[in-house]
Amino acid sequence: MTTFRDFYNGLRQLEIPPSHPLIAHASLSAFGDVHGGAETVLGALLGAFHTVVMPSFTYKTMLIPETGPEHNACTYGSGKDTNRMAEFFRPDMPVDRLIGKIAETLRTRAGAQRSSHPILSFTGINAGAILGAQTLKDPLGPIRALSEADGWVLLLGVDHTANTSIHYAEKEAGRKQFIYWALTPAGVVECMGCPGCSAGFQVVSTRLDHVTRTVQIGPGIVQALPLKDLINTVQQWLKEDPLALLCEKPDCGYCNAVRTAMSVR
Ligand SMILES: [Zn+2]
Repeated sequence: MTTFRDFYNGLRQLEIPPSHPLIAHASLSAFGDVHGGAETVLGALLGAFHTVVMPSFTYKTMLIPETGPEHNACTYGSGKDTNRMAEFFRPDMPVDRLIGKIAETLRTRAGAQRSSHPILSFTGINAGAILGAQTLKDPLGPIRALSEADGWVLLLGVDHTANTSIHYAEKEAGRKQFIYWALTPAGVVECMGCPGCSAGFQVVSTRLDHVTRTVQIGPGIVQALPLKDLINTVQQWLKEDPLALLCEKPDCGYCNAVRTAMSVR
């Protein structure tokens, strides 16, 4: 059984100065049988670091409109059935299951704050300025704020396909962004500047070996990377190869839209 002490000691072994903010992506199940579950992992994170941010995305608010711009990886008009399942965004909406239980535990923690993007919100402790960097037009602003504050990315039992900060680097490198639509109490909101697909991100790991710190905690692996190094590496790679990090799925609407945008440039 993996314990609080295992997590706390493992996180300290990464030798990240506790004052540096971090964004964590985590899979509880990667750590096997955890004594105390998500609370234990979160408690260790907050014990080891002052500022912890996690994505608190809410995909359930998403709608497919009848019409919209071309090359947006969206089959307009196909949402007649699924749109009825969409839920209004509200600040206390649970984090999407795909993001995981630890992020939901952070969101409900006393003192936690959450940004207000109806699809791509972030939650955190001692992270007011970082969360405040998000606007509807700049959904990944918190990643920029984390980077400017010498922040780190922590991947707890997940790989780079969960690493949202790579999307920020893509955007900074000029890669095509997408429009999503969200159901809110104020009506349907158009969300500009949203990222595409992350299924092809894991290949970046070979270029980040020299800046990645790794520790094993129970059966799970934790990786830590300085955000500035991650973002620089991805931007440099996309400059050399504008099609890097796209996935191989032939029917991936997002990655194909990026390829199309490159070919018509
Ligand atoms: Zn893809």
